[in-house]
Amino acid sequence: MAVHVAPLLTHGHAAQANDAHMVEQTTCCVVGGGPAGAVLALLLARKGIAVTLLEAHKDWAREFRGNTINPAVVQIMAELGLAAQLLALPHAKIRNFTVQTNSGPLTFADFSRLKTRYPFIMMLPQARFLEFIVREAQRYPNFQLRMGARVERLIQEAGVTRGVRYRVDGQSHELRALLTIGADGRFSRVRRLAALTPVATATPMDVLWFNLPRKADDPQEGGAVFRFGRRNLVVMMDHGEYWQIGYIIAKGSYPHVRAAGLEQLRQQLAELLPELHDRIDVIQDWQQGALLSVESSCLEQWYRPGLLLIGDAAHVMSPIGGVGINHAIQDAVVAANVLAAPLKSGNVRLRDLAAVQRRRREPTRVIQFFQRCMQRWGVDGVLQSNKPFRLPAFLRLGLRLPVVRAIPAWLIAFGAWPVHVKQ
Ligand SMILES: Cc1cc2nc3c(=O)[nH]c(=O)nc-3n(C[C@H](O)[C@H](O)[C@H](O)COP(=O)(O)OP(=O)(O)OC[C@H]3O[C@@H](n4cnc5c(N)ncnc54)[C@H](O)[C@@H]3O)c2cc1C
Repeated sequence: MAVHVAPLLTHGHAAQANDAHMVEQTTCCVVGGGPAGAVLALLLARKGIAVTLLEAHKDWAREFRGNTINPAVVQIMAELGLAAQLLALPHAKIRNFTVQTNSGPLTFADFSRLKTRYPFIMMLPQARFLEFIVREAQRYPNFQLRMGARVERLIQEAGVTRGVRYRVDGQSHELRALLTIGADGRFSRVRRLAALTPVATATPMDVLWFNLPRKADDPQEGGAVFRFGRRNLVVMMDHGEYWQIGYIIAKGSYPHVRAAGLEQLRQQLAELLPELHDRIDVIQDWQQGALLSVESSCLEQWYRPGLLLIGDAAHVMSPIGGVGINHAIQDAVVAANVLAAPLKSGNVRLRDLAAVQRRRREPTRVIQFFQRCMQRWGVDGVLQSNKPFRLPAFLRLGLRLPVVRAIPAWLIAFGAWPVHVKQ
C-alpha cells in the first residue's frame, strides 16, 4: 500500500516554502498512465503489490492517439476476466486491412481467418480504454493514482534509482519505491534522466492525421483501406463514430504540404478518398490535424538498478500495422509476470529486470523488421516516385495465398509471439 510518510523539507532549505515536499512510499512507482503503465499498474495491483501510477495529464483525453485494441490485448483482458466488459464498450471492428491497387482491392491482413475468439481489431478511443483499466485497478486498495503528476527527477542513491520527484499543482512530492518503471512514452523523461539512448532506424515518412465525420449511409464496418497516390498515400479507418484519415507523406515534407495550402490538401484527399469527397470541406484549419513524426527505435538496454523502461519509452514502433499499443501492453504483461514475485519478496535484482528485456526485445525487433519490409515494399516507392504505384510482383502473388496472407494478420494481431498473463 502507498504509505504517506510525512511532509518534509529538503535539506538546507527549510526556510523556503516552495522547496517543501511531501514524501510518500510505495513498492512500485509507475511513471506514465498510457497503455503500458496503466495495464502494468492493474496487473501488479491484482497481485496485492503496492503500486502508484503517476500521470502528467489531469485526464485521459488526447487528440490523435492510437485507438486500436488488437486481438492479443482482448485475449489478455479475457485472461483477466475482463473481455466481456471491454467488448461491451461502444466500439467499431476492423476485420481486414485492404490495399486498393490498379487491379482492384487486395487484402493484406485478414484477421477474420485467425484462430482466435477475437478475430478483429477493436477500434476504441484510447481514453475509454485507459479509463476502463484504471477503474478496474481502483478496485484494489493497494493501487494509488496521481493525476497531473509530472515526474521531474529520479531519486538516485549509490547508483540505484529509489523513486522519483514529481510535481502536482506546483507542489513538489517525493515518491520512494523499490522499483521505478518508466512508461512515459516516446519522449520519455525517465529515459533521459537515466541516460539511456535508443537506437533509431530510418523511417522515411510522416503521417498527418485528420478525422472526418461519418454519415448515416456510409458502409457499416468500413475496415481499414490504403490508397496510393503520387508521392503520397492515405489510410482510411472506420472508427464507428467517425473516419480517421492518415495522410502519409515523405519525412520532413510537412512544411511543403503546408506551404502548398489547405485547398491542395483537400483536393488530394478528395482524389484519394472519393467516397468522402462530400465532407473534405470540414478540414478548414491545420490545427484540426496532428502531425506524427514517424520513428522506429529501440533501447539497447531497458534497465538500470531500480529502474525499468517499457512501452514507447523503451521502443517506438512505426505506425505500420498499428502495433504500438499491443507491444506496450505485452511489455506490461511480461514485466508483471517476471517482477511480481521479486517485488513481493522486496528484492528486485538486476537479472530480474534483464529477464524482462530478454523476453521483449527480440519480439520487438522482429516486428520492427517486418515494418521495415512493409515500408520498403509498400511505402517508399510511392513517396519517392511520381509513377503510379504497383506492389512488387512477389507480394501481389504471395498475398493471394491464404497461408501468406495469414502472416501479416498474425504479426499485427499477436506480435512475434503471444504473451499470456501468469495467474
Ligand atoms: C498520432 C498517433 C497515432 C497512433 N496510432 C496508433 C494506432 O493506430 N495503433 C497503435 O497500436 N498505436 C498507435 N500509436 C502509438 C501508440 O499510441 C503508442 O505506441 C502507445 O500509446 C504507447 O503506449 P505507452 O504507454 O508506452 O506510452 P504513451 O501512450 O505515450 O503514454 C505515456 C504516458 O506518460 C505520460 N507522461 C509523459 N511524461 C511524463 C512525466 N514526466 N511524468 C508523468 N507522466 C508522464 C503521458 O502523459 C502519457 O499518458 C499512435 C501514436 C500517435 C502519436
